[in-house]
Parts: sequence; C-alpha cells; structure tokens
Amino acid sequence: MTRPSRQHADRRKSPVMGKRILVTGGAGFLGSHLCEKLLARGHEVICLDNFYTGRKKNIVHLLDNPYFELMRHDVTFPLYVEVEEIYNLACPASPIHYQFDPVQTTKTSVHGAINMLGLAKRTKAKIFQASTSEVYGDPEIHPQPEEYRGAVNPIGPRACYDEGKRCAETLFFDYYRQHKVNIRVARIFNTFGPRMLPNDGRVVSNFIVQALTGQDITIYGDGKQTRSFCYVDDLIDGIIALMDAPDTVTGPINLGNPTEFTMLELAQKIIELTDTKSKLVFRPLPQDDPMQRQPDISKAKEILRWQPTVQLEEGLKKTIAYFDKELSKATP
Ligand code: NAD
Ligand code: UDP
Ligand code: UDP
Repeated sequence: MTRPSRQHADRRKSPVMGKRILVTGGAGFLGSHLCEKLLARGHEVICLDNFYTGRKKNIVHLLDNPYFELMRHDVTFPLYVEVEEIYNLACPASPIHYQFDPVQTTKTSVHGAINMLGLAKRTKAKIFQASTSEVYGDPEIHPQPEEYRGAVNPIGPRACYDEGKRCAETLFFDYYRQHKVNIRVARIFNTFGPRMLPNDGRVVSNFIVQALTGQDITIYGDGKQTRSFCYVDDLIDGIIALMDAPDTVTGPINLGNPTEFTMLELAQKIIELTDTKSKLVFRPLPQDDPMQRQPDISKAKEILRWQPTVQLEEGLKKTIAYFDKELSKATP
C-alpha cells in the first residue's frame, strides 16, 4: 500500500543529517550570515535571491560547499521546491533602496509572503518571517513591547516598507490560524555588521564609509533621534533560536540590542574609533523618520533565553575593519 504522507516527507528530507532549508534574500547582508551559520550547523541550504540589493560576493565563499545551492528567483513569483524550513528575508531593507521602487517593495513583502506561505503550507515547512521594528512606525511608547500596535503613516514614503511588512505579518497569522502553518515572526531592530553595502544609505555604513574616506559625516536633523544597534552575529543567533523554539512560539518577538544611542553619539564613537578628521554636517531629517527606537526584549530573554552579547564598540570595530578592507580593495 502506498503511503503518500511518508513519501511526501521523504522527498523533503535532506540526505545529510541536517534539514533542507530555504533562505530567501540569502545573498543579502543578514541572509548571507544566516546561510553561513545554517551550513555550519550541518544543514542543506537553498539560497534564493534576485540580487536586487544582494551580491554574489556575499556568498561566493559558500559556492563550493555541496550542501549550498544558489537560486536566482524573485519571491513575487511562485516557487516549487521541497524544504523543511523557510527563512523569508527577501526585501530591500535600507530606506534608499526600498523607496527606489516602492511598488516592487510592497509586492516583495506581500506577494512574497503569500508565495512562501503557500509553499510552507504545501510542504508543511516551518516558516520564519523577517519583520521589522518599522511596524511600530514613529512610536509613542518607549521602549517598544510586542503588544504596541504602532504609529505608521500609511501613505508616506516609508509606507511601502512598513505597511508591506505589516501586511506580511497579517498573512503569517492568518495562514497560522486558517491553515495551521507553523510560523515564526521576528521584529528585527536596526542591525549592522560586515557585508552591509557601503552605499546603502543606512546610518552605520554611511558614517563608517564617510569617516574612513575623510568625507563629512552627514547627520540628518539635529542628530538627537535614537536607534538601538544590534551586531549581526547576535541577531542571527536570535533568529535561529526563534526557529528552533517549541511550536507554540509563533512570535511576534522583538530581536535587537536594547542599548540606545543618539545619532550624534554614534557619529562620535565612529570618529573616535577611526581617528578621522571628518567633520559633522547637518542635513534635513527625512520625512517620517522615527525619533526614537528601542526594543523591549523581555520576551526574547524569557522565551528564547536569548540576548545580545556584543557591545556597540566591539561590533563597530569589526565593521570598520571590514569596510577598511573593502575600500582599500576598491582603490587601485
Ligand atoms: P538586504 O537588502 O541586504 O537583503 C535583502 C535581500 O533580499 C537582498 O539580497 C535582495 O537582493 C533580496 N531581495 C529583495 N527583493 C527580492 C525579491 N523580490 N525576490 C528575491 N530576493 C529579493 O537587507 P538585510 O539588512 O539583509 O535585510 C534582510 C531582511 O531583514 C529584510 O526582510 C529586512 O526587511 C529585514 N530587516 C533587516 C533589518 C536590518 O537592520 N538589517 C532590520 C529589520 C528588518
Ligand atoms: N505557491 C508556491 N509554491 C508552492 C505552493 C504555493 O509558490 O509550493 C504559491 C502559489 O502562487 C499560490 C500561493 O503560493 O498562489 C498561495 O498558496 P495557497 O495554497 O495558500 O493558495 P492558492 O494555491 O489557493 O492560491
Ligand atoms: N541617518 C543620519 N545620517 C545618515 C543616514 C541616516 O543621520 O547618513 C539617520 C536617519 O535619519 C535615522 C537614523 O540615522 O534617524 C537611522 O537610519 P537608517 O536608515 O540606518 O535606519 P532606519 O531609519 O530605517 O531605522
């Protein structure tokens, strides 16, 4: 007698001891670190990316690994593969990139979520969503716990990203309630580290590149707005801890480093660490730029037993060393 469910499970099973895992946005900043860590844990990884902001360079060192497979694909189109876990990270994350083609940004979050959830439903895979602190918008309560519903402008320039991610969360929870899909939703706060794009406009990469090349350091507004920066290695551990948590843990769960800094403090720290002669210059604050942001990570601490361990200065030193090397390669 045939046993369809067993056959189905076997098709999904990886020949190695680990699982067969799909990482969308796998050639991006966070995705490439995640692929690396999953391979190191003995899993088989399918890295999917359309190379919108991702780079081959981020994953070139993984291409010789027989358990790593690179797939050029856009998540807004259906995808038929057999996997046991899906990490859905595909989406440009820096304001200049997600605002460059805002319609595509919303499509990536919404159509991408539908396709990946459809895939998870069919294969019975567990699925992780990289949501964001942007779902809280410009928050009126501080720090932000998961219960806070946010203050997002639905028609502003950041809305394609913020509302796209909010709708993706809605889809995740509806697939969970309606189709019993095994979901994990993390709200990721500002994360930095090696492999950020030097020109992606995010504050840490901007300030470091400006400091290393002797350009003026561009403070938007008065620089008193705050962010809380998490080093990439800590964040990846948090993401995997959420995926590996018991099935009752769906999230949403905040992942980030709660130590908060103003942009002026960040600039000062980078000036000290690079010993640059760069000067601060003040530029207009972009529309809808949140004034403060700090994760309440009580849930992550209690449920995942996770908290960041890398202090800002230590993470900045590693990131500065990375950009220093990148920039010296770029100059003939
Ligand atoms: P990133 O831009 O480096 O990575 C995103 C990746 O997704 C890129 O490789 C890009 O080419 C790919 N991509 C974009 N659209 C796609 C599509 N339609 N189909 C397939 N691939 C596509 O950004 P990141 O910082 O690594 O962010 C990864 C995820 O984490 C994003 O979903 C982002 O929203 C989320 N996130 C990041 C941060 C952060 O501080 N880095 C904070 C909150 C949330
Ligand atoms: N889908 C996919 N891979 C799969 C299964 C589904 O990409 O293995 C996509 C497909 O485009 C589908 C969407 O996911 O439209 C949502 O799937 P679901 O089963 O929820 O809905 P339906 O198939 O009824 O549209
Ligand atoms: N910012 C800045 N100078 C820059 C780039 C960004 O002062 O060169 C500010 C920006 O206005 C925001 C903060 O730094 O207040 C974080 O910006 P980023 O784009 O890194 O992240 P997000 O706003 O999405 O949290």
